[in-house]
Amino acid sequence: MAKQIGRFDAIIVGARIAGCVTAAALAQRGWSILLVERAQFPRPTLSTHLFFSDTLHALQRAGLLEPILRIGAPRIRWLRFPYVAAPFPASKGFDFALCIRREVLDTLLFEAVRSLSNVTALTGARVTAVRQVDDRRWDVVVATTSGEWLTSAPLVIGADGRDSTVARQVRAPVLAYIPPLFAWYYTYVDGLPWDGDVAALAYRGDYPDIGAEYAAAFLFPCDAGLTLVGYGVEHRAFSAFRRDVTQHFVAGLRRIPEVWERFASARRVAPIRGTGRLPNFLRQASGSGWALVGDAGCHQDPHSVQGMGNAARSAWLLAEELARVQTEGIDLQQALARYARRRDDDLLPLFAFTTFELRRQLPDDIWERFEARTREDPDLASLRVAAMVHAVHPATVYTPERVTSIANGAVIPPLQPA
Ligand SMILES: Cc1cc2nc3c(=O)[nH]c(=O)nc-3n(C[C@H](O)[C@H](O)[C@H](O)COP(=O)(O)OP(=O)(O)OC[C@H]3O[C@@H](n4cnc5c(N)ncnc54)[C@H](O)[C@@H]3O)c2cc1C
Repeated sequence: MAKQIGRFDAIIVGARIAGCVTAAALAQRGWSILLVERAQFPRPTLSTHLFFSDTLHALQRAGLLEPILRIGAPRIRWLRFPYVAAPFPASKGFDFALCIRREVLDTLLFEAVRSLSNVTALTGARVTAVRQVDDRRWDVVVATTSGEWLTSAPLVIGADGRDSTVARQVRAPVLAYIPPLFAWYYTYVDGLPWDGDVAALAYRGDYPDIGAEYAAAFLFPCDAGLTLVGYGVEHRAFSAFRRDVTQHFVAGLRRIPEVWERFASARRVAPIRGTGRLPNFLRQASGSGWALVGDAGCHQDPHSVQGMGNAARSAWLLAEELARVQTEGIDLQQALARYARRRDDDLLPLFAFTTFELRRQLPDDIWERFEARTREDPDLASLRVAAMVHAVHPATVYTPERVTSIANGAVIPPLQPA
């Protein structure tokens, strides 16, 4: 028979960025939290890790920013992607992005959250079952090396990533699904030369030998003096690519001279890792006594760099809505429903951009004019970067109506610092 761990206000499954921000934000508000993580830190996760001012702001509000800034990772001032290039706007006091290896970042977040007095944090502990006993109680079964434990709470929060056990157990409805678009691989190099401003750089390429008309490479300066070097191909080339990852990674980079020159002059210090198992989906964000944050609720291809920001912002939105249960006396269910609406409003425009659903809704000439204007008009490029980092609401740019009106010449006022 399972041993009892006790009762909590909420049980959070998964303790990387979504779980840690949720736990810290709720603990600040006096909630007693059980945070359950199957990994032992430090441990990497399969992810590159560029993140923007929206993430920095969420970490700051959750009281988690200081240890992250102390790492001293380079402050990245510019985004230079094939379709948009502009400096990061000043937003809520942050005018830079960071790129910190996940084993470093996630360990520091977890240590900070574990030290909070009303958080009980377990690692090496896997949630295996989540059962609703009645409308005020969930039982959660946790498997550890010392056996099986049973715990309960009125609220269970899935921060357990794209293969979320919580989502499966609560039968969270899938609201949208788009098959994988790309496969992305990355490694780290030491001694890659950076001159000029420190920027997150991405370059377009192709790799016809394995059937990829579209490929891209990226260079992100990250912590410990390393540079993250990435390469990806459209998904139809994934099975050919994975047959010899090292050969195709190197051969792909060689086709992009700006990247190859710098990559070849540096020393590779890590294996090449990556995946093409990158489905795009949106799950309902909450239901009766449950909520999903981060990738558990919405997973999308990383090409638009939204994952960590979505995780941190959704965590913060959930905590803000749950706070109303105490401060305004609203019902838990109402708070959860409000969270779901806000999460969708917050991330749907860029989900549509990332998955090319937005592109599909528009005539080709409109999209081409929108892209051409982005290259020519620095105010539009700045606005698009501001939308990517959520310094302005993404619907300011990424709706069919806005893209059409921008393509047709709508005036874009210069961005004001927020
Ligand atoms: C190749 C690649 C590149 C990427 N690049 C970027 C990028 O540059 N920038 C960016 O913003 N995003 C990027 N992402 C996306 C980013 O990694 C995710 O969006 C982000 O990690 C989501 O955080 P999360 O906390 O929601 O989930 P996760 O980071 O997936 O964490 C979930 C945690 O839950 C734990 N867990 C799962 N199941 C259980 C269980 N049953 N019991 C207990 N614990 C459990 C897991 O061990 C894990 O630690 C990339 C992703 C990939 C795959």
